[in-house]
Amino acid sequence: MNELLKIENLKLYFNTEEGVVKAIEDVNLTINTGEIVGIVGETGSGKSVTAMSILKLIPSPPARYLNGEIWFDGQKIDNLSEEAMSNIRGKKIAMIFQEPMTSLNPTFTIGEQICDVIMAHMQIRKEEAFKKAIETFKLVKMQDPESLMIKYPHQLSGGMRQRVMIAMALVCNPKLLIADEATTALDVTIQAQILGLLKKMNKELGLSILIITHSLGIVAQICDRVVVMYSGYTVESGNVYEIFNRPLHPYTRGLLNAIPSVENKLETLKAIEGTVPDLIDPPVGCRFHPRCGRVIKGLCDEHVPELTGFDHKVACFNPYDGGDENWRS
Ligand code: SF4
Repeated sequence: MNELLKIENLKLYFNTEEGVVKAIEDVNLTINTGEIVGIVGETGSGKSVTAMSILKLIPSPPARYLNGEIWFDGQKIDNLSEEAMSNIRGKKIAMIFQEPMTSLNPTFTIGEQICDVIMAHMQIRKEEAFKKAIETFKLVKMQDPESLMIKYPHQLSGGMRQRVMIAMALVCNPKLLIADEATTALDVTIQAQILGLLKKMNKELGLSILIITHSLGIVAQICDRVVVMYSGYTVESGNVYEIFNRPLHPYTRGLLNAIPSVENKLETLKAIEGTVPDLIDPPVGCRFHPRCGRVIKGLCDEHVPELTGFDHKVACFNPYDGGDENWRS
């Protein structure tokens, strides 16, 4: 499979009045053409900052890009000018967010907004843009797209607004869609419908998708591969079956032990002890070491483990061996 997006050794800090926030220390990930990849991690793991860095959506300052390369479709994009980047945003890489109301303008109709997007990127006339909008709404299974065009965002349900955002994201035929907690605010049935729609777009259009989520349940439902992030680092990555059945990193095991499954009954669920580190003054060495049951003193608390492996990668000095089928506690 072709590599569509590759992030190598991304490092990004924020200058704040309280101090330097070491948000992204060493993030690595690859998305192949036609794949759905999930980035999973707790709040503060850096998953959304990573996603926004791809499109250079974080202003600098306060952000400081300190290291790393981002490649998209064979082109190095981390050093592109704002003008060159605006040709990639929306056209080649589109992004949808948790709350569509922050992206939709409440004072314009859905039709006006989607036609503006189409005309901005495709240099076509309004009548053609209107037709293209209707086609795209049909593609994402919106009923009665003609009457949808004259509605305002507040007249739609949360699920319909997210479908509109997906339609707007797909209207210019991007190669990659980034969905940042795009179903978090929706109830479970609507969430399942939106995930089903994304999967359908992936299969039918060959759309590659990067899903940013705190939910391993969403990863299990839709993703081909998963990248686990902790406190600004990629700590484990691999295909979903492999990671769910043979997690090697203590943090990944902790996350999986904290969700219910057929074998893992509710009474045996265990939360990971401790809290996520302060990013202004993070622990030295492996940032997970204050919470880790497999810590090696003098090593984990002094040195940072590198991400190693081929298909299944892990950054840990003392990973599990992956051979234990009954690892769930
Ligand atoms: S490197 Fe050490 S502290 Fe970090 S996760 Fe692995 S065993 Fe635990």
